[in-house]
Amino acid sequence: MLIDYHVHLQPDSHKGRCKYDMDNLDEYLRCASAAGIDEIGITEHSNRFFEFLPTFAPVLDKAESIPAISRWIREGCTETLDEYVRFLQEAKRTGRPVKVSVEVDYIPGQESLIADILSDYQFDYVLGSVHFINAWAVDYSAEFGWPDKSVDDVFRQYFDIVIQAVESGLFDCIAHPDLVKKLGFVPSIDLTPYYETVAKAMKKADVAYEVSTAGLFKPVGEVYPSPEFISVMHSYCVPFVFSSDAHSPEQVGRQFEVSLETVRQVGYTEVALFDNRVRYSRPL
Ligand SMILES: [Zn+2]
Ligand SMILES: [Zn+2]
Repeated sequence: MLIDYHVHLQPDSHKGRCKYDMDNLDEYLRCASAAGIDEIGITEHSNRFFEFLPTFAPVLDKAESIPAISRWIREGCTETLDEYVRFLQEAKRTGRPVKVSVEVDYIPGQESLIADILSDYQFDYVLGSVHFINAWAVDYSAEFGWPDKSVDDVFRQYFDIVIQAVESGLFDCIAHPDLVKKLGFVPSIDLTPYYETVAKAMKKADVAYEVSTAGLFKPVGEVYPSPEFISVMHSYCVPFVFSSDAHSPEQVGRQFEVSLETVRQVGYTEVALFDNRVRYSRPL
């Protein structure tokens, strides 16, 4: 069974009100069906919603903040979660193969704020993401932050925050668990022990992860997480979902043959799915 559990309904650069309407969603579903995808999960960024804006306080306008990112967080905030969740629930109710989700930025220290917001809504699953180390967005640009830092330290810190996200109990699934590699920086340290620690934490917390093809289109040129990381996850029996991180209809399910081959090669036979925050699985 093929699913795409990381889909945005407009490009990151989209300005103004978001495209939460059935025509737009149906266009995504048409593309999904053409790509052989049985079900998609809509995971809008938490910064799009007024309710989540306070959770970004630690990353806004600090010395390490990237002005363009602070602006993006503020300017992208044009919607209410109420309307968004209601729209997706209506899509689901009318038989569209859609799951209700949201991509929440995990920011250490904001756990209770995030938990409070999430508790008001019925999601099928909550996708947790780490994009920030303190106030710095690791995935923004090779020119910001990276030149002043030790690549090894950045990778260590990134995985530490991923583990905190896993252990927070806020999320059903973790997005792009090694996003830190996106811009192509390669650490000198052996990452295997970090993969093991993350996988162990996921197993213990009963959290899934996504195998995302988005990385194939970035400087790093490989899936998130790396094939070695996927193999470690499999050895700890950590379940996964497929994802594209699509920001337009034609990106749904892109290059999924790469993900499929990778997960089969390491021995997976099932993919995880969610409904009302309960996980189940189907044969690949
Ligand atoms: Zn993300
Ligand atoms: Zn995303």
